[in-house]
Amino acid sequence: MKDKPHIGFDLDGVIADWIYSYTKHSHKVNGTKTMRTTDSDIEQFSLYPWYQPRDEFISTIKSWAKQPNVFVKMPHIDSSDINYLRAMQNLNAYDISFITARNPPGVHDVREQTRAWLDKRGLHDHPLYLSKNKGELCDALGIDFFIDDSDNNIEDIILHSPKTVPVAMNRSYVSKSTKRSVPTANNLVEYFGIVRSRL
Ligand SMILES: [Mg+2]
Repeated sequence: MKDKPHIGFDLDGVIADWIYSYTKHSHKVNGTKTMRTTDSDIEQFSLYPWYQPRDEFISTIKSWAKQPNVFVKMPHIDSSDINYLRAMQNLNAYDISFITARNPPGVHDVREQTRAWLDKRGLHDHPLYLSKNKGELCDALGIDFFIDDSDNNIEDIILHSPKTVPVAMNRSYVSKSTKRSVPTANNLVEYFGIVRSRL
């Protein structure tokens, strides 16, 4: 039996502010100040409140991801969360893994960039996986808890990793049905609180 609980983290929308980074780029290249959206866009991408036609979104996100070091320069969402996560890391009471679906076409150093982003925040040497199949991966890795801001990923974990407790990061675009069906955390302090209450 493993001795430490295995705690998993999504990056984008949980601790990394990719929406800020993307939106800034989008305004620059499209000459916009605000974005528009349609319901089908939200449905298609399932989580984010993009106020932008789909074709524009696709081309903008490709050019966004190809900017040199864009994933290194991305801000984090909440300094308290980063500090708390680092404190939990230093306690050495948990196995920590990061799983991100980042895999932009034509960007070959996304892993190195992501690793540098984590290192910059004092989050060293934890396994980092780049995969869209988070459910299968959580199952294979024996992850006990996983926090994500995507309805699709939460559902995927429910379907494919019965031993993982999925936790929703409470963002405006997370659906009510997800928030009803799994524990929801407003920040990482609450996430670890959920972990501790279920060990
Ligand atoms: Mg995410």
